[in-house]
Amino acid sequence: MTSDHITHWIAGRPWHGVAARRGDVYDPATGAVARQVDLADAEVVDRAVAAALEAFRQWRHTSVARRTSVLFAFRELLNARREELAALIVSEHGKVHSDALGEVARGLEVVEYACGIPQLSRGSFTEQASTGVDVYSVRQPLGPVAIISPFNFPAMVPMWFFPIAIAAGNTVVVKPSEKDPSAANLLARLWQEAGLPDGVFNVVHGDKPAVDRLLEHPDVKAVSFVGSTPVARHVYETGTRHGKRVQALGGAKNHMLVLPDADLDLAADAAVNAGYGAAGERCMAVSVLVAVDPVGDELVERITRRIAELKVGPGSAPGSQMGPLVTGAHRDKVASYLDAGTAEGAALAVDGRAHAVEGEPGGFWLGPTLFDHVKPGMSVYEDEIFGPVLSVVRVGSYDEGLALINANPYGNGTALFTNDGGAARRFQHEVEVGMVGINVPIPVPVAYYSFGGWKNSLFGDAHAYGEDGVRFFTRGKAVTQRWLDPSHGGINLGFPTNS
Ligand code: NAD
Repeated sequence: MTSDHITHWIAGRPWHGVAARRGDVYDPATGAVARQVDLADAEVVDRAVAAALEAFRQWRHTSVARRTSVLFAFRELLNARREELAALIVSEHGKVHSDALGEVARGLEVVEYACGIPQLSRGSFTEQASTGVDVYSVRQPLGPVAIISPFNFPAMVPMWFFPIAIAAGNTVVVKPSEKDPSAANLLARLWQEAGLPDGVFNVVHGDKPAVDRLLEHPDVKAVSFVGSTPVARHVYETGTRHGKRVQALGGAKNHMLVLPDADLDLAADAAVNAGYGAAGERCMAVSVLVAVDPVGDELVERITRRIAELKVGPGSAPGSQMGPLVTGAHRDKVASYLDAGTAEGAALAVDGRAHAVEGEPGGFWLGPTLFDHVKPGMSVYEDEIFGPVLSVVRVGSYDEGLALINANPYGNGTALFTNDGGAARRFQHEVEVGMVGINVPIPVPVAYYSFGGWKNSLFGDAHAYGEDGVRFFTRGKAVTQRWLDPSHGGINLGFPTNS
């Protein structure tokens, strides 16, 4: 379904108006421009929002049974077409095929969760709250909602939000990353095949102007954003200033704390998997390994041995374990930290620039890199690098490691490796991070819990999906009713009390 020109999807069809601006979409494994994507201006955004508003007038009245049956049909199509979707992700993002399939599977989980919307959005009823008076509550949809997503999960991150939003009776405008825009268009076609009415799911492609128009548009009632912290803060502040409900998930610097009693092979495997999977372009990637004395040397040695075996190559090649980075500019930025870290005094234990790559020379390659003896204050420690660069920080005790993690301005994910249940219990209780893994390096919660970080990793009150997702995409209404015995004692200007 891919063509070399990607355009918006509005009211059930591609929008072919002339775009004033277009962006290049690369094949990261070759470095070539594979296609171009239209970049929306305010007028295109307004069309998409108008389509979503028009569709909302019907969709919000569509029965829960009908909405659920569309969700089930979408689930079946997504499952049947997961290979096609994964291949599309690989071609624009660069991650390896199995990883792209994993992304689709985790998005599918949220679709399956949203199939339970009849139960999830049920209200409550109190009979005879006062004499002859019943009180009940319902949850109703908000209207058109905007979903703005990052490049690193072009299918999964939008699926954290839109299945629940649509199931709950809202209509949606998705603004995917302009770096890998095609997955969203395939999802739009699957919705149509599933029987979703036109205009309930729309896609506008673009960058800052498109986002800013969505943030100020009066008919957009809520915004779910995922991306870097500076943009998340901008989205939260601008969206709420315009009266919208906003959840804005930001960047991360995830620490993995390894205690001396941990299984060091398990810890080394986990550090490599979570540090270099998807070339480190995951918000839940481990980017700092905190080794409690005396296990630092041993861990660095075991990780170094494992790195040497990693196969770096095109995401579509069966043997590849790690693909290229998303763009040349991003690869260069990540690579610049190798010089910066060295200049700041960290020890470059493994230089990713020297790693063998089985791919075309023009691809956006950078091999797995390991820094040892990293300290707070160095840019490799402070910045979210978002590439295959793992930093090892040595600490003398559990308390020192915990204090380091809690002092970090990000609080997305963290992991503890230990065989001590008491230490694990203490850690999950004391750590100031939203998602915690105990001997699990990438603790992305299942769909019936919610996903969200603390501190600079999330702006707003609601985490993504799970119960938070249902609450975010609905608003409560409480009804107090009296049918029998309508007499209420005649004129009485006092405040109503219950009896
Ligand atoms: P990004 O912030 O550059 O872009 C995210 C979205 O915002 C894109 O749709 C982009 O078009 C738009 N955008 C970019 N600059 C903008 C601006 N100035 N004004 C308005 N909109 C703008 O992020 P990215 O590089 O696509 O993704 C990587 C980042 O996302 C990392 O920081 C990563 O940690 C974060 N991320 C976080 C989570 C999470 O759950 N917390 C999940 C995935 C990714």
